[in-house]
Formats: sequence, structure tokens, C-alpha cells
Amino acid sequence: MSAPRSYDAIVIGGGTSGLVAAAYLAKARRKVLLLEAQDKFGGLCAPVNLGAGFSATGGAHMLYALDPLVMRDLKLARKGLRFEGREIALTGLRSDGKHIVIHRDIHDTAASLAVHSQRDAETWPRFRKELFDLARAMRSLWWESHGAMPSGGKRQKLDRIARVSAAAWLGSWFEGEALKGTLCFDAVAGGVSVLEPGSALALVWRAAQEMLGLQGAVAIPQGGLIALVDSLVSVATEAGCELRTGARVKSLIPDQGRVVGVRIETGETCFAPMVLSAVSCRQTLSDLLPNGACGIARQAVEIRNASVLGEASLLFTLRSVPPFGGVSVPTACRFILAEKPETYVSAEMAAREGRLGDELPVAFVVPTLSDPSLAPPGQHILSALIRPVPRRPVENWSTLKAELARRVAGEIEKLAPGFSRAISHIEILSPDDIDDGYPVTVPRMLSNAAQRIEAPVAGLFLCGADAEPVPAISGRAARIAASLALAGQP
Ligand SMILES: Cc1cc2nc3c(=O)[nH]c(=O)nc-3n(C[C@H](O)[C@H](O)[C@H](O)COP(=O)(O)OP(=O)(O)OC[C@H]3O[C@@H](n4cnc5c(N)ncnc54)[C@H](O)[C@@H]3O)c2cc1C
Repeated sequence: MSAPRSYDAIVIGGGTSGLVAAAYLAKARRKVLLLEAQDKFGGLCAPVNLGAGFSATGGAHMLYALDPLVMRDLKLARKGLRFEGREIALTGLRSDGKHIVIHRDIHDTAASLAVHSQRDAETWPRFRKELFDLARAMRSLWWESHGAMPSGGKRQKLDRIARVSAAAWLGSWFEGEALKGTLCFDAVAGGVSVLEPGSALALVWRAAQEMLGLQGAVAIPQGGLIALVDSLVSVATEAGCELRTGARVKSLIPDQGRVVGVRIETGETCFAPMVLSAVSCRQTLSDLLPNGACGIARQAVEIRNASVLGEASLLFTLRSVPPFGGVSVPTACRFILAEKPETYVSAEMAAREGRLGDELPVAFVVPTLSDPSLAPPGQHILSALIRPVPRRPVENWSTLKAELARRVAGEIEKLAPGFSRAISHIEILSPDDIDDGYPVTVPRMLSNAAQRIEAPVAGLFLCGADAEPVPAISGRAARIAASLALAGQP
């Protein structure tokens, strides 16, 4: 067994969050070790093997929350991170072919909405302005380490939104079920319920994000999310960080009430005055911290029990892409299959009973339509996200995966006849394949970054998706965690 080694900082997990934290710490001239359990970096953005000529990641497929400061400070554009477009539209697909297309342009969007409801078309510009104004006002709380809620009239409106469900809030603005069904998808990230008081706040969080200088935009990098991971690995390596794969952390090492290092499954021990964990809060506090250490293990187990709603993703490789419903929609588009808020409610009720709902809300993109380099000529990738699904089903996920794939393919087939015949391969990521995160709750969304990052034990900082108000590829919590950790050091 090798002798213990000492570092200034240890980062657990080599997904996008861990890589961002490691890069910031190493750029601050600290001696940094990053430990990744798998044989590749990226976590939910790691490449999956779909066969020759295909390039795709398993879980995530687009960027809407990447911290602009991470992009700037780590000079990711210089590392080759480029985007196909600055904004992709949101399309609610409908079985009657009257699809709803939500563009950045409010007038084009209103025209699309007018097909369903003149009143909604007139309301859209007001809704969007109010949503974006309130969202910007929340950036202090969500973007700064010790940020706060706004004051005055905006505070009153936000306090009300924090008590209202996404379904009810959208219902107070709009009458069209299809529009509400399309917008609801972004409210149910991270296990939040569309009926839960406060889930409307998740929509405000989403609108507060900025991609490439555009508020509320969605972008897909050239080369897919693998390009983001490659650029982060490159920055961290150049900054002098020691990056290791195949190095699963088995436990944290506590000493006199603080975390002072980690034990790796290989038997090695490494010490550092600061340990940043980019794995889930549950894994960090419950699995990695020796039982009972610092009296916090029980709290972490309660977190595990609290999350019952999960999400799953499906990757289809296609020999061709059939048209959607014969109606033209933008090619660079995010599609939503959920014709009404009730679709989420029935999927959630079923998920709480441990089964797949009769209706499943699905969001999907076809990244190869805007970046053909991701697949062999003429072939395509369709990446779908399904939520909510049961986190712990009555049947196990190894049985349920095939049913999920059949059901989702069937739903897409209804709108794009010929879709099933075009499928050449399916890759499925179920909640069993995803580290159980801390569920999105109103208190979590109303806490500032320092409250989400500082673990209840000295020397330990949370810097992964659980340290964000809503899980996403952001790097913001990781950037702030690095600065908080450094601030506590001589
Ligand atoms: C199905 C799905 C689809 C999503 N789609 C999107 C999307 O399109 N866009 C978006 O912005 N967000 C999306 N999200 C959310 C987003 O993917 C995550 O919030 C983000 O990728 C989290 O990054 P991370 O680095 O914090 O965690 P992860 O990507 O989960 O990385 C954690 C890393 O830690 C490693 N690890 C775990 N345990 C240990 C250990 N004991 N020792 C060492 N290493 C360990 C893992 O192997 C992994 O590499 C999606 C989430 C899911 C579940």
C-alpha cells in the first residue's frame, strides 16, 4: 500500500461540477487532486458508446444554466467550446398537429399561441416580461455566495410564487392546456411536483439562467456535451490539477470534528485541509462519512427517503428522422410531449405508487439536426428525458427499462410515423443509474449558495448538483464552493 499523500484540496467526482471546482482551485495555485470513480470524466455528461461514428452523452443533452463566469474565467471558448446556435426553440408537440412553438421572439410565439387561444397570445408578452423581470431579481440569491431575495414589490410577488404550484401559477395566466403542458416540463426538474406549493419558483429559476448572454436560452455545444467535458479536463490539467479516473472514494476521513482527507477503494489515503464533494449530498453525508461521525448521518438518510420522483433518459440512434406531424417546426428545437398539466399529475401519481404512468411527459432533442457531425452521414440521435418516473418502482428498473423504451418510442411514433422503424439502437439511463440527489424543495430554492455549499462539518464543501437550487450543468456552485473553501484557508 502506498504512503498517504498530501494535497491542498481534494475534489470527489469528475463530472462537470467536480472539474470546475478542481480547475478554480488549481488556478488559485493550490495542489489539487480530483478523484473520479468511473474510467472516464463527465458523470452525466460522459460519453456513451453508441457505435462507430456516433457521439453522445448518457444523461444530459443541452445547456441552459452554464455559469457565464465559469465560461469566462476558465476561458472555455479558447479551449474549443463552441455552440451551434445561441438559442433553440421550445416546441409543444400535439396529436392534432397544431404544435406550439415558443421562440425568443414574442410576436412569433404569440402567433403560434393564437392558433389555440387569442387570450393566451395576448397574455404571452406580459407573462414573459414579468417572469424574466422576477427571475433577474432572484439572481442575487441564486448567483452570489451570500445573496439575498429582492425587496419591495418584487419580493411580495416572489413570496406568493414560492407558495404556488407551477400548475396553478401557469393556470392563473393561461387557458390553453397545451401551452401549460409544454411549460410545466421545466418546473419538474429534480423530483419536484407540478402540484407542489412553490414549484412555480422552479420556472423562475429556469428563467434566471443565462446562456451565451441570452436570458432563458438553451444551447447545444458543437460536438455535444462531450466538448464541454473535454474543455474542462483541458483547463484543469493545464492548471496543474492531478486528475484520476478509476479512483472511487470509499470514505471521508474525519478528525476532531473536521474532514481531513479521503480513503480510496484501492486502499490509498490522501489528506487535504479542504475536501470538495461533487457527488450527492446523500452519498457524501450518509455513505462516505463514517457512521455517526459529527452526528449527521441520520439527517442524510432522511434525505434519501424523501425522494420518490425520478427522471430517466433514453438515447435512440436512428437510420433517419421522420417528419413531425407533417407540420414544419424549427430544426434546432426542444420538443415536449405533454399535452396538458394533467399529464404530469397522472405520471406523478403512478410514480408515487412505484409504476410508470399511462401518460409520460417527455422532452427530446435531435442534436444531429443542427450538428450532423455527431452521427454517421444520414443517421441521427434522439435524446429524450422523461419525468416524473418512479425512483423506486415496484418492479425493478432492469425490468421496467424495456417498457419505458417501448412506451416512449410509441408516443413519438404517434407524432412522427415511421419513428420506430428508424431506430437502430436504444441506450437507457434509469434512476438506478443516477446518484440519488437531494430533492428540489422550496427551502432549497430559497437558500443562498453558501447555505447550499457549506456542509455541516468543517473542511467539507458540497459542490455538485445538490448544491444548486435546481440540478443542472452549471458549475456555479462549484465555482463558489472553491472560493468559499479558499477564503477559509491561510
Ligand atoms: C437524465 C438526466 C438528464 C439531464 N439533462 C440535463 C440537461 O440536458 N442539461 C442540464 O443542464 N442538466 C441536465 N440534467 C442535470 C445535470 O445533468 C446534472 O445536474 C449535472 O450533470 C450534475 O453534474 P455533477 O458534476 O454535479 O454530477 P455528475 O455528473 O453526476 O458527476 C458526479 C461524478 O462523481 C462520480 N462519483 C460518484 N461517486 C463517487 C465516489 N464515491 N468517488 C469518486 N467519484 C464518484 C461519478 O462517477 C460522476 O462522474 C439532467 C439530469 C438527469 C438525471
